[in-house]
Amino acid sequence: MTQPAKPLQGKTALVTGASRGIGRAIALRLARDGAKVGVNYRANREAAESAAQAVREAGSEALLLPADVADAAQVQAMFQEIERAWGGVDILVNNAGVNRDGLIIRMSEEDWDAVLDTNLKGAFLCAKAAARSMLRKRWGRIINMSSVIGVAGNAGQANYAASKAGLIGLTRALAKELASRNITVNALTPGFIDTDMVSVMSEEARAAVKTRIALDRFGTADDVAALVAFLAGPEAAYITGQAIGVDGGIAI
Ligand code: NAP
Repeated sequence: MTQPAKPLQGKTALVTGASRGIGRAIALRLARDGAKVGVNYRANREAAESAAQAVREAGSEALLLPADVADAAQVQAMFQEIERAWGGVDILVNNAGVNRDGLIIRMSEEDWDAVLDTNLKGAFLCAKAAARSMLRKRWGRIINMSSVIGVAGNAGQANYAASKAGLIGLTRALAKELASRNITVNALTPGFIDTDMVSVMSEEARAAVKTRIALDRFGTADDVAALVAFLAGPEAAYITGQAIGVDGGIAI
């Protein structure tokens, strides 16, 4: 079977945290594949407007959707807006994420809550809202951005690792719960990807990590976006409940 040039034509996607980094690359890639894209962000309006403009330049439609994914009322309002504009969401990419690193004895309760609220509760709130329209349409794709840290753990990232491991459990539970309605749910476990999130690493820390990456380089946001596009597309119809690495071989 040959792939259509725009395999996601006619589909609507919501990418959370699409103003920068991996989320922006996913928004552009899904747009190039034909999907209309909701560009969610929390604070950085200028960056989000630039991402939405890039989606339009890729030949698709964009909706700018400011919302804190950890806030149930804001998530509800965001989904109401997509429902009004496009009649629902076919593809949800739970990408928004933050880190507040620190050793456990110095990690505040606030640092724990902030990371769990955005990374895990945010994905729950968005999946719950998206499932409504996906169940109605009997078609859907939910893609959760976990991390290799959620599989292997990392010193100084107890909150982040717990949130990303939690996303894998959420993925597997929802995959079982929603499968009968033709909704697949998968997670990605990226390794180290060059974005703002890793830009704070020292040169020494980068060099140390690089020695563990089989392909001997940090990943790009486009490396991750390519896997998201595949999972959202027609050729991934029989894949569900998986946590798939895109990590240059760091986990092997
Ligand atoms: P990034 O460059 O720091 O961008 C984070 C994005 O999330 C921004 O668009 C930000 O919006 C948004 N965001 C943060 N909190 C939010 C909230 N509460 N509600 C809505 N949007 C929110 O991060 P990234 O490196 O692209 O990471 C994207 C995802 O991949 C994250 O889940 C991260 O944990 C995961 N990941 C990253 C790596 C890596 O090496 N970079 C590896 C594995 C997994 P504003 O611009 O408005 O702040």
